[in-house]
Amino acid sequence: MDKINIKNLEIFAKHGVYSEENVLGQKFIISCTLYTDLRSAGLKDELEKSLDYGQIITSIKEIVENNVYKLIETVAQSIADGLLEENEMLKQVWVEVKKPWAPVAAHLETVSVEILRKKHIAYIALGSNMGDREAYLGFAIDELNKTPHCRVMKVSEFINTEPYGDVEQDDFLNAVLIMETLLSPYELLELVQEIENKADRVRTVRWGPRTLDLDIIFYDDIVLSEDNLRIPHAQAHMRGFVLEPLVKLSPNFMHPLLSKTVSELLDELNKEELGNNNNNES
Ligand code: ATP
Ligand code: CA
Ligand code: CA
Repeated sequence: MDKINIKNLEIFAKHGVYSEENVLGQKFIISCTLYTDLRSAGLKDELEKSLDYGQIITSIKEIVENNVYKLIETVAQSIADGLLEENEMLKQVWVEVKKPWAPVAAHLETVSVEILRKKHIAYIALGSNMGDREAYLGFAIDELNKTPHCRVMKVSEFINTEPYGDVEQDDFLNAVLIMETLLSPYELLELVQEIENKADRVRTVRWGPRTLDLDIIFYDDIVLSEDNLRIPHAQAHMRGFVLEPLVKLSPNFMHPLLSKTVSELLDELNKEELGNNNNNES
């Protein structure tokens, strides 16, 4: 990816763990690398096609001067989050915060932290089969979209599906959405569970009726296998109600474990189901 570099921007501010630092202030030196696609700006020679580094510098100064943090880690995090949030074109950012006058009893040039942060793409499957199903799915989309550092980019059609598993229950309304987020996979799991709780979800029988179910299907191309979080979702490739809306949104998305596109996975599933039906008939 292309880069824009800002090197050694000096800002006087009041971050530090000692109260004296919060009163007297000191110098901080900020550098960052902004990762974006500059091809179109390079070809057209138009500022709107690029990131306005004047504006970015103003934003960094505002974040660093108008807040008081204990840690330079937090200063760096706030800069990264602020810039990624404000600039749609910015996909990834590297931030370095140096503190040349750190109050330690030693001679040194600087103390610094460096962080690399990027926007992640998550695919979420939504389902509801109790009460006003459409309203519950709409509620989930709004809640995700209004959470800081989250932006819902595309939502599939809502589809009606027969329930999965052995429990006798009403039909589901299902959908899939694509979102951009700065949250980690675990933070995202916590968020979707909070939204389920706000929608009065009661956890009773597994695969039983529920007002709202939000499953993380994919998160970039990561593979994660922990007790409380598996990504890609362990069953997604076996579920038509996940694959069908997914294929409409992003047919060529590659399942990182199975190395097949979601479109190929849906074809396979349909063939398998056709085979099963034919077997049952013969
Ligand atoms: P299924 O996961 O088979 O669709 P379910 O959605 O009915 O079943 P829940 O009761 O909603 O299951 O969730 C059970 C647990 O699954 C959650 O507590 C969560 O920790 C865990 N889990 C593991 N991987 C994921 C994931 N990718 N997305 C959401 N929850 C997950
Ligand atoms: Ca589920
Ligand atoms: Ca779930």
